[in-house]
Amino acid sequence: MVVPHDNWTALREAETARMLAACTRCGECFRVCPMIAHAPAAQGADGSAIVGGVLDLLQGGAGDEASRAWTSACTRSGVCVPACPKAVNPMMMLRLAKFRAQEGGAIPPRDSRDAMARVKTFARLTMTEEEWERWQ
Ligand code: SF4
Repeated sequence: MVVPHDNWTALREAETARMLAACTRCGECFRVCPMIAHAPAAQGADGSAIVGGVLDLLQGGAGDEASRAWTSACTRSGVCVPACPKAVNPMMMLRLAKFRAQEGGAIPPRDSRDAMARVKTFARLTMTEEEWERWQ
């Protein structure tokens, strides 16, 4: 199906349907995510279960505490994208789940209390040891 790029709603619906059909809940995206350190409620979660919660959020459900925490913590590092064996694009999956959850009230519209800590984690992924030492 070809979706016009100026039709955000149609694009979002099409991507949601694609992701729901493609994701096997293997949990690889969760396993490699560097932002779990900033989502205490998601730490130690079962990968399949937490992805199931994200897919619920994606469909307008309430998810569970762990999936909401992980979705909120996503800083779009993109580490999950090549880890996904089904080319789902988990980074976008979490983004769309967050949009829907914020619209429905499952996740607060904006919560940036730990934003700087997550940005530092993101930045660390892009730096050499020397650059990291200088930056801190
Ligand atoms: S998005 Fe990809 S990596 Fe994550 S659970 Fe689904 S299939 Fe696995």
